[in-house]
Amino acid sequence: MSSTRRLLIAGNWKMNGLKKEARQLSSQLAKRMSKANKPAFDMVVCPPYPVMGLVGDLLKGSGVKMGSQDNHAQVSGAHTGDSSATLLKNIGCTYAIVGHSERRTDHNEKDADVKAKAEAAIAARMISIVCIGETLKQRNAGRTLSTNRKQLLGSLPTDANAKNTVIAYEPVWAIGTGEVATPAQAQEVHAAIRAELAGAIGPKEAAKMRILYGGSMKPGNAKELIALPDVDGGLIGGASLNAADFWAIAEAAHQK
Ligand code: PEP
Repeated sequence: MSSTRRLLIAGNWKMNGLKKEARQLSSQLAKRMSKANKPAFDMVVCPPYPVMGLVGDLLKGSGVKMGSQDNHAQVSGAHTGDSSATLLKNIGCTYAIVGHSERRTDHNEKDADVKAKAEAAIAARMISIVCIGETLKQRNAGRTLSTNRKQLLGSLPTDANAKNTVIAYEPVWAIGTGEVATPAQAQEVHAAIRAELAGAIGPKEAAKMRILYGGSMKPGNAKELIALPDVDGGLIGGASLNAADFWAIAEAAHQK
């Protein structure tokens, strides 16, 4: 069981969140989180860059943290359109998603890029959320575990530990599709990830590291996924855009 691991509920807003929506969502979550009676979970939302200032101000003091959806591997310099971990930390981000499958696809990010970004986030004193996951083609070819193993070992930051790194297992075929991994599929991969982590960073640290599930997590399926022994919370896209849905998923974590 996950008694030593504090659950994490993370919202990835992707390229959504006009000022009005961002304001409403942040205020509602801040209100619920500060009212919650000793929540048994951490919560973070990762808005797009343009509303980070707004969201950060509204979340201040609430217990809901802010994270980024990506960061550059360099600290500063001539990289038009990018943001460094240092800049993101400076504006209030404490978590950094890296290696999301949409970035791996849209921006051709490789494991080595993801690793460098995660290391930059950690150097800026953020917690990196390293995403891995197989495509449907890889699953159907029987390459689920080997794909995740390769991505994990290639993307894991040097000096990763349970305090500075979170792994998010996100089967690509389940992201934004309404398809969700069965509990058996999710547990199989999460357990395999933890076993790989034991080899990479040692069994003690692996036992403490949080592994999130992501891929069409909703209020209706969150409880059975989060209840799994090696699932330590969720990385949620679509359902994180609705405060009531996101909170209902968090309540599943509260019940674990
Ligand atoms: C995600 O973008 O990380 C994600 C899991 O999206 P969704 O919940 O919409 O499938």
